[in-house]
Amino acid sequence: MLAIENLVVRYGSILALRGISLEVNEGEIVGVIGPNGAGKSTMLMAAAAAIPVAEGDIRFEGETVVGSRPERVVERGISLVPEGRHIFHRLTVGENLELGTTTRKDDQVEQDKLRVFELFPILKEYLKTPAGKLSGGEQQMLAIGRALLAKPRLLMLDEPSLGLAPIVIDRVFETFEQLRSSGVTILLVEQHAERTLELADRVYVLRTGNIELAGTPAELEANPEFERAFLGFV
Ligand code: ATP
Repeated sequence: MLAIENLVVRYGSILALRGISLEVNEGEIVGVIGPNGAGKSTMLMAAAAAIPVAEGDIRFEGETVVGSRPERVVERGISLVPEGRHIFHRLTVGENLELGTTTRKDDQVEQDKLRVFELFPILKEYLKTPAGKLSGGEQQMLAIGRALLAKPRLLMLDEPSLGLAPIVIDRVFETFEQLRSSGVTILLVEQHAERTLELADRVYVLRTGNIELAGTPAELEANPEFERAFLGFV
């Protein structure tokens, strides 16, 4: 579904990604773990066509996203929940959710809102509340809800557990399973390695712009090199 091939991204003289390759197949939950500054956010932003690519390619369902407009990538079925959530604090929950629908041209939006409310009932209760009044966990749910309203086939999440209490992380991670069951493919970037290993079908370890290891959670856990890399940053 998503194929990243030999991707190089630079910020001026900083080489953030040094030729990484990664694949996400339809129906999978793929995790990318790694320490601060490894290039995880850069990879997702490149896949969302939000930043330029220096070398390599990113293909979604066979066609490149490199050089596309970000809105066009959303229309094609990729949504990103960015790190820090990017919620508009002064807008209400309802208005924030509405922003997720701007690329839609079909008439299923109301049905999809009901689905989001089933997943996160709290958002329905707070529809008219300014989003800035929500807790961190509720804002994360809002950010995910908003991304889902773009009707993605691939949902990319950048550190959704950041700043959340463990019990709230449980709730957010549970929804990823539910989303997968409803046909959404997930690419999840996390520093929270253990939870990612519990959830994902396959995991990549990214460090200083390179994919160091990749495999199923069982394969990685059986790999002594993984333990070294894993203990290196947790
Ligand atoms: P974090 O968990 O801290 O977000 P990350 O794995 O997502 O880390 P990136 O944010 O992708 O890593 O950063 C990769 C590298 O690129 C780092 O060296 C970072 O300092 C650098 N970098 C990221 N954004 C910029 C930018 N806008 N300008 C210059 N350098 C940047």
